[in-house]
Amino acid sequence: MVRIAVLGAGVIGLSCALKIKEKYKDSHVVLIAEEFSPNTTGDGSGGLWYPYLCGNTPENLIAKWGAETYDFLYKLLVEGGHEVRAVPMKCLYRIKKDYRRPKWADNVFAFQQMDQNQLHYLSQMYSADYVYGHTLITLIIPPITLMNYLFQRFKNAKGEMVQAKLTSLRDSVLSQFDVVVNCTGMGARELVPDYSVYPIRGQVAKMNAPWIMECIVDEDGGNYIIPNAQACVLGGTHQEHNYNINVDDKDTEFILKGCQKMVHSLGNAKVLGHWAGLRPGRPEIRLEAENIGGKLVVHNYGHGGSGLTLFWGCATDAVAIIDKHLTNKSKL
Ligand SMILES: Cc1cc2nc3c(=O)[nH]c(=O)nc-3n(C[C@H](O)[C@H](O)[C@H](O)COP(=O)(O)OP(=O)(O)OC[C@H]3O[C@@H](n4cnc5c(N)ncnc54)[C@H](O)[C@@H]3O)c2cc1C
Repeated sequence: MVRIAVLGAGVIGLSCALKIKEKYKDSHVVLIAEEFSPNTTGDGSGGLWYPYLCGNTPENLIAKWGAETYDFLYKLLVEGGHEVRAVPMKCLYRIKKDYRRPKWADNVFAFQQMDQNQLHYLSQMYSADYVYGHTLITLIIPPITLMNYLFQRFKNAKGEMVQAKLTSLRDSVLSQFDVVVNCTGMGARELVPDYSVYPIRGQVAKMNAPWIMECIVDEDGGNYIIPNAQACVLGGTHQEHNYNINVDDKDTEFILKGCQKMVHSLGNAKVLGHWAGLRPGRPEIRLEAENIGGKLVVHNYGHGGSGLTLFWGCATDAVAIIDKHLTNKSKL
């Protein structure tokens, strides 16, 4: 029986553990983490499908991982009962540069670049000066609903869980496993150690505004509005190298004022809560194999602001690496 440890129970680790356990039904898969849902970064996030802040990760990989995850969420939407919403999204930019149609655009519903008339209209509506924008149909899921769903599926597949904090990938706890999958997000900075991992702090306000049925991102202005089925999530900040996970009053003011300036009716919405978390930033997402002391370690971390956009596609590639390794081993 193959023994596989998945480190980290955020959306990346949980989806990997699930995919591995469902593929190798007879294997022993243990999810080891310091924190589980609802205390992971993804739990507090917006739950929006949209590639965001993932460094210089190659476009073709973003498109591939993003498409698989979009399809996965779409299947949940069609199945019903998972609180997934298909929502029109406007993404607007203020700074002039050479904008191209992103590669991932081919895999989502109704992607369109805005023309000058639309930009002019929206600039007036949101009191800003937009030079580029695109629209699409995105998919949004309340992150806790997603985490619960993945967790239940993992438990049904007879996956196991252990709460523990590891200090090294050579920790003796790992000696009983044939393969280790490292999905520790920000934790990878110390655990690997990989000092190219850095925090991109994000703060959001969660509002009760069920009348908002459109997602708006003002990329350069910094504000965004993400209506998921449980809350309308307003943002935001993306402060690099900032480790503060406390709510900051100045950021709260920026978020509420900025979003209300775009959509006035938010002024009448009740605040459900505020939250701040650290996106695991990295110059590039790391999804690759490493041999540590004769053991296969599959790294899958550094997803920045896109963990809920790429998780299912990344899990597929992590499984493919394990599959190749196990096939080669069985040939020996
Ligand atoms: C404000 C905000 C809004 C966001 N909105 C969105 C959004 O709308 N859409 C989107 O796609 N993304 C969004 N993101 C980004 C998204 O939340 C992250 O990309 C994602 O959660 C990263 O998942 P992860 O599993 O890699 O990390 P985490 O969720 O941080 O999980 C890491 C796991 O590893 C464990 N761990 C770490 N170190 C150790 C160790 N040494 N030993 C044992 N366990 C360890 C932790 O306990 C945890 O279980 C947002 C982020 C923020 C902050």
